[in-house]
Amino acid sequence: MINLSLKELSEGLKQKKFSSVELTQFFLNRLDLHNSSINAFITIDKDKSLAMAKHSDEIIKEGNQDYLTGIPIAQKDIFCAEGWKTSCGSKMLDNFIAPYDSTVISKFNAVGAVNLGKTNMDEFAMGSSNETSFYGNVKNPWDIKTVPGGSSGGSAAAVAGRLVPAATATDTGGSIRQPASLCGLTGLKPTYGLVSRYGMIAFASSLDQAGPMCHTAEDCAAMMNVMSGHDPKDSTSIQRAKENYLTGISDPIKGLKIGVPKEFFSEGLDPEVEKIIERGINEYKKLGAEIVEISLPNNHLSIPVYYVIAPAEASSNLSRYDGVRYGYRTKEYDDLMEMYCKTREEGFGEEVKRRIMIGTYVLSAGYYDAYYLKAQKIRRLISEDFKKAFENCDVILGPSAPSVAFPIGEKKEDPLKMYMQDVYTISTNLAGLPGLSMPAGLMNELPVGIQLIGNYFSEAKLLNIANIFQMNTDWHNLSPEEFK
Ligand code: GLN
Repeated sequence: MINLSLKELSEGLKQKKFSSVELTQFFLNRLDLHNSSINAFITIDKDKSLAMAKHSDEIIKEGNQDYLTGIPIAQKDIFCAEGWKTSCGSKMLDNFIAPYDSTVISKFNAVGAVNLGKTNMDEFAMGSSNETSFYGNVKNPWDIKTVPGGSSGGSAAAVAGRLVPAATATDTGGSIRQPASLCGLTGLKPTYGLVSRYGMIAFASSLDQAGPMCHTAEDCAAMMNVMSGHDPKDSTSIQRAKENYLTGISDPIKGLKIGVPKEFFSEGLDPEVEKIIERGINEYKKLGAEIVEISLPNNHLSIPVYYVIAPAEASSNLSRYDGVRYGYRTKEYDDLMEMYCKTREEGFGEEVKRRIMIGTYVLSAGYYDAYYLKAQKIRRLISEDFKKAFENCDVILGPSAPSVAFPIGEKKEDPLKMYMQDVYTISTNLAGLPGLSMPAGLMNELPVGIQLIGNYFSEAKLLNIANIFQMNTDWHNLSPEEFK
């Protein structure tokens, strides 16, 4: 059961090999057995999940089954789900029960998917190792002494440990692709605006985007068929015809032009990781692709630019947590100002406070031009680099992360080292482009991911290119020993 794809689970439900209640109970039992060792979930509510499964069985009985009907999916704790605690990994929202569904959640509900629980994450999605969560760090099922990546580390660990068939995640600077890479999964960050952000707790609004975390490209395509689409409730959601990401997923890729950016293979990349990426490139050559060298000359500026823009937006977004309307409020205070200050001092963790301080600084009247405005200009240059690159290739290939999963605690005290984890992923968010990470091998028994970056709205193509790789390789089928 734990190795079945979403398609096979869907078939099994259709042929009545098992019911949704049985399937959900099966995965709830897996959670009982394994979640305590990896801490992948913040909220598990068996009664709620089983009630949803019962409802899904009714839908199937009536003959209205959709691809994901009756299948348990874990939801990152950044998505508001009515009646479920939605904490975003923060003490600030530890007592917050969402009064409404985010669009992503309502789309899963509409097709009768089962919510198996809310997954652990870095506080307000700030982090690359899942060590900033108020609920404790998540452990990587491949080696529980190492991090799963972040910020969607709970979703990644849950899928990698086969505690759930698939999960949702979000990516502001790499939070789908980097944990997918470190946990041996396929994760897709879609084009900005393709998936609605309504009800998804905001970190940096011009960068945040939700996507799937799965074993395979085919599973990601099935998830995208549910998650994507225009939403009038999100003003940045894009109005365009809905695609079926499964159509064409096995089309031949002969003649495909793959661009390899030379800047992605310089200092900082682990030489063993580099070898694995090169083996992946050779695999594509064998499959009929043409490889061309390209350049993304401003990529080295993406981390500094991101750490101006993302904190600026975060400082504004997080100003709403003031102890007045919802969330945490300090116990003792004499006046309103003291209530604000103590609430935010006690409710936010260290990394979140660091970002709020950087953000307010770069937006302040005296420094706005020097930092924020400058960063926005360089952001444009980074987008232009991609535009030029796509004149010479159909897709860009490189590493997803500079290394494999690192030991818990190793980078926690050094934010700059931690920030380097996203050196290959952040530019994609700054440009609003789609990016995918998929397993390409093991180094010291830990997974290594290949990243594919496409032009705007090329998700179907990216999933196709990844699927062809997966039809010819076996890396996506590997599982961590203790979770088999
Ligand atoms: N690691 C990056 C950060 O800490 C990206 C996080 C994300 O994509 N949510 O901000």
